[in-house]
Amino acid sequence: MLQLKGKSAVVTGGSRGIGRSIAINLARLGASVAVNYTSNSAAAEETVKEITGSGGKAIAIAANVAQAQQANTLIESAAEQFGTVHILVNSAGITRDGLLMRMKDEEWQQVIQTNLTGVFNCTRAVSRIMLKQRWGRIVNISSIVGIKGNAGQANYCASKAGVIGFTKAAAKELGSRGITVNAIAPGYIQTDMTGKLPQSARDEMLSRVLLGRPGRPEDVAWLAAFLSSDLSSYITGQIISVDGGIVM
Ligand code: NAP
Repeated sequence: MLQLKGKSAVVTGGSRGIGRSIAINLARLGASVAVNYTSNSAAAEETVKEITGSGGKAIAIAANVAQAQQANTLIESAAEQFGTVHILVNSAGITRDGLLMRMKDEEWQQVIQTNLTGVFNCTRAVSRIMLKQRWGRIVNISSIVGIKGNAGQANYCASKAGVIGFTKAAAKELGSRGITVNAIAPGYIQTDMTGKLPQSARDEMLSRVLLGRPGRPEDVAWLAAFLSSDLSSYITGQIISVDGGIVM
């Protein structure tokens, strides 16, 4: 049965959207969860309240994952609070869309630094703990546009393609110590991130979804829970799309 009793997890970007749903789901299955965010403390507290209100265990930890020192402190604080960290879900992510011809240096750097370097920073920090305990689950949230590209998102697509390469390399380095590393590539999921896109862009994405509806954060959260559990112990280095059938 899918359960995570006795496990502790860090979910980066766990305060909103896909990360929030993953954090709530992991806690519902019995894990203690550190809900990471960078600036919106109200959303993080609300997520923690939702978990603790249903009898789960959660704390909010502010940290900008793009900064190595803050990522180290995030993992150390969670390990201190819960005794260790068994599960890391790297969900923190941002977009700064624009045509590459006009893309500013800082738009490129912010996205790479948060979406790709952030995954490296947190994974490096947690790997020290997981290697010692010879058990770990790392789930990276990539994107289908990291597989197929998307006009107007050169920075974002590069960061998400980078996460795919990183996932495979980390799986190869850590597999012999009982640590699995997988990535989920969501398609069009209804969150604040996609809510700010123009209606025409959302309609266009929807037209390519075989199942005829946008994804919900829970659609991603169930796969993340499975990949965080003992049930997925023979799956590593995989990139699994949750996209209603866009990529096949
Ligand atoms: P969202 O609703 O905008 O939430 C983003 C989350 O990331 C928030 O909790 C935010 O914290 C946090 N965050 C942003 N920058 C951070 C940083 N530097 N350090 C720590 N936390 C940071 O986004 P979402 O749609 O749920 O996306 C979650 C992940 O899924 C992202 O990696 C995204 O690229 C990926 N994804 C999303 C879709 C989609 O359709 N929505 C599709 C494919 C992939 P604050 O609240 O403090 O800002």
